Amino acid sequence: MKTLALISALAPRRVPNLLGGKTLDQWIDTALTQALGPVTRFWLERANSPLSWLPEGVRHTVPSETAGLERTVEKLAEGYDEILWFEADEPLIRPDLINRLLDLHREYRAEYTFADGYPRGLAPEVLHPRIIPTLRRFAEKKQAEKSTETTLRSPWFDLISQDINAFDIETDLSPVDLRAERISFRADSFRQMIFLERWLDKAQGPLLPLLEELRDSPLKRRTLPATLQIQIATGVLQLPVWSPLQLFHPEALRSREFLDDELFQKWVSSALAWAGDLTLMPSFWGEPSLHPRVKELFLEALSHNDLRLVVETSGLGWRDEDLADLAQVARGRLDWIVELDSQNPETYRHLRGEGFDEAQAFTQKALKGFPGHVWPQTVRMKETEEETEGFYRYWKDQAGQAIILKYNSFGGRIPERKPADLSPWKRLPCWHLQRDLAVFRDGTVVPCRDAWRQNLVLGNLHTDTWEAIWGAGGRLLQEHAQENYPEVCRNCDEYYTFFF
Ligand code: SF4
Repeated sequence: MKTLALISALAPRRVPNLLGGKTLDQWIDTALTQALGPVTRFWLERANSPLSWLPEGVRHTVPSETAGLERTVEKLAEGYDEILWFEADEPLIRPDLINRLLDLHREYRAEYTFADGYPRGLAPEVLHPRIIPTLRRFAEKKQAEKSTETTLRSPWFDLISQDINAFDIETDLSPVDLRAERISFRADSFRQMIFLERWLDKAQGPLLPLLEELRDSPLKRRTLPATLQIQIATGVLQLPVWSPLQLFHPEALRSREFLDDELFQKWVSSALAWAGDLTLMPSFWGEPSLHPRVKELFLEALSHNDLRLVVETSGLGWRDEDLADLAQVARGRLDWIVELDSQNPETYRHLRGEGFDEAQAFTQKALKGFPGHVWPQTVRMKETEEETEGFYRYWKDQAGQAIILKYNSFGGRIPERKPADLSPWKRLPCWHLQRDLAVFRDGTVVPCRDAWRQNLVLGNLHTDTWEAIWGAGGRLLQEHAQENYPEVCRNCDEYYTFFF
């Protein structure tokens, strides 16, 4: 068998190329040699980020033209029997899983073999070169239809999914199903580097104990927050029926208090200096469009390269010139979640009040300024159940995507409108404690929206450091892991949801 190993370094490098005293490339090289000996290997690089520390002969530049990656692989794989596909920022790839996948691929003469239920980054994908021309045509068609950019990550599973029955596929199922834990061994953020350093020794040891320990150690999986919510305005323009604002802030329609610009700047920059990169959601219990200097706040946030801004909004109250200015600088780092709830004006009025036409017009303008970064959203509840599929189809066609949000009764504090219970059969420690922080305008920090009465306080930014606040969340997570829940968490079913 002639085996070709391709290591894709197309995704931008956001962290130092070093782990445990070795470069990420050396880790992969060593794993490959341990598994297969002197197999042919090439690193794939982008023209604008060459892997200049590697010798010329082992790297190939992927052109950014349509299906440039698929074309490059098609050419490189000529004369080979199988392709092993790696990502260059997955250094702890396991030699035993390389061999296990290859054995499976060969035994069943598969065309595509992948590992399922494992953490990301421990196993490669295996492809038969004969399917690459077909996948290249799929990629060309997809890119022509959607004008999407060349993919920066493995495109293979997505392409195969376009006609999944046309390919012979084999799967190696993990002995411990870790899909729900969403564990990644990818070195793509400061957060992930902490994780990799922490699990470095274990990841090189026997497989089963590693997987079991990963499953059983939520606290050891927790590193730094990924999403930061900040309340920049206390008021709203609508009170949807699914919102508990009526309960805890009945004045919200009239309330017009705003976060001070300097505090916003201080909190965002200090959080980034500590956590490395973040998704910022400036919509915590308030409508961001109400802030009189909302554009300036967003421009300030976007001036940080390691920040992604996700704005959840009713779509009301936005100024066209602000949208235009933001579109100039966003460069794919500003996403809009528009709470449309329904495409039927009558349902919309019942759920949210007036504003249907303005919210629809906003969404269309946002789609022009931020293509691919607008997420029309509906809440799945009894009132919308019959319309949900139509809503999804309409916006999938218009925007390429839509969100169907799970209804939240806030632990039974507002009426239950959920049409179906999607919660897992066994309760997990809450995702929000593992990944999120949320800051009220007065500096109080909680883990989630459900703590709207400030009843899970982790600290206050006027007196506490990010580290101390995050540490308090860790102690709460430890309680969750021991199935000991604070009162507000006890009946809450948001534990299995998370943002980014
Ligand atoms: S269980 Fe609910 S209330 Fe508790 S931290 Fe998670 S989301 Fe918040």
